Amino acid sequence: MDKRPFVTLEQLQAIDREYPTPYHLYDEAGLRKNVEALLDAFSWNPGFREYFAVKAEPNPFILKIFQEYDCGCDCSSLTELMLADALGFDGEHIMFSSNDTTVEEYAFAQKVGAQINFDDITMIDFYEQEIGPLPELVCCRYNPGGYFTLGNDIMDNPGDSKYGFTPEQMKEGYRILRDKGVKEFGIHSFLASNTVTNEYYPMLAKRLFKFAREVSAELGIRFKFINLSGGIGIPYYPEQDANDIKVIGDGVRKMYEEILVPAGMGDAAIYTELGRFMTGPFGCLVTKAIHEKHIHKEYIGVDACAANLMRPAMYGAYHHITVMGKEDAPCDHTYDVTGSLCENNDKFAIDRKLPKIDMGDFLVIHDTGAHGFAMGYNYNGKLRSSELLLKTDGSVQLIRRAETPKDYFATFDYCDILKDMDWDA
Ligand SMILES: *Cc1c(COP(=O)(O)O)cnc(C)c1O
Repeated sequence: MDKRPFVTLEQLQAIDREYPTPYHLYDEAGLRKNVEALLDAFSWNPGFREYFAVKAEPNPFILKIFQEYDCGCDCSSLTELMLADALGFDGEHIMFSSNDTTVEEYAFAQKVGAQINFDDITMIDFYEQEIGPLPELVCCRYNPGGYFTLGNDIMDNPGDSKYGFTPEQMKEGYRILRDKGVKEFGIHSFLASNTVTNEYYPMLAKRLFKFAREVSAELGIRFKFINLSGGIGIPYYPEQDANDIKVIGDGVRKMYEEILVPAGMGDAAIYTELGRFMTGPFGCLVTKAIHEKHIHKEYIGVDACAANLMRPAMYGAYHHITVMGKEDAPCDHTYDVTGSLCENNDKFAIDRKLPKIDMGDFLVIHDTGAHGFAMGYNYNGKLRSSELLLKTDGSVQLIRRAETPKDYFATFDYCDILKDMDWDA
């Protein structure tokens, strides 16, 4: 498929008068259309709720958009919990799916009444000793081990993943929780990441529903919800087809009606914790070509770097690039597109066929809306960029300002050196 940016060259030129590159830009219309399609696909389940995985794009303005649709937040840390709480999400709208959790994180989760998703059986004792009585509702994270396969394809390797309880520990854990007076239960599992197939969620649902049915029958406990977590992927490559969320929702419904309804579990709510699917395609990193270099290969240096988007450097991830204004020009040049870090893996693209790039050209790096800005860091003293929202009416709103050197040095605010700093540099 032809991958086109959601923004035009003329819009970027207009934005450039106010906000310098690099920046991450988000598409409000696309975000809204997508969340509406998700809610429609699961509208057959009265209790359905999406808890947006905050770590994918922890921006209050984006969370506010999802809040309009009664979505919740899936949090993994103290600061994510603080953000959700500050935005007015109540406990029913916060899922705390953490691992290797600290006392202070559980204490805050308890204070705001978040739903606790235990990652390990030892967390039951840990919680009771450090925090106090268990909540009335507890969720446990399931890790069946082995490989997760669809047909002949290995999708992921839960046996090698640090998350969750083993199947035996799940039963033991629920029994302990029941005997300690916990009233309602949830079950959660995340078996494969970035799946670009309509089969993943229905297959996960099948396993999780069967397991929940078995546990419920054995222990006489009631599952309030079944949390299918994240993992629905997006087409980063132009030749990939996007998932069809309607087909996915129908596939989950089929399993629900086959497995849960006959077992008298037809009141269980389906929850999701999607991150990538919710924001990934609706964000892009906008950067300018500032240098070209002809040595053993052809290099284009841009004003963004891996500190703004780590996925290519970290996972060798593919992100499609559009040279703006040259959408229909022949891709007759081969470039490495690089950032400025003193790390040779700071390359947004390697041996990529692109149209001839001129200095000052805008490059749109696609699909940075999830795990993009969020994974940013300050290596080489690089500052985090701004984030902008392209609103449905075509206007642009600053939803996070760019960092300044003052932000970078803020953790030295107890030192003398700050008073001699030249802030106008
Ligand atoms: C990362 C994460 C998600 C979101 O995953 P995506 O692949 O972005 O959909 C959901 N739940 C948990 C517990 C996670 O760690």
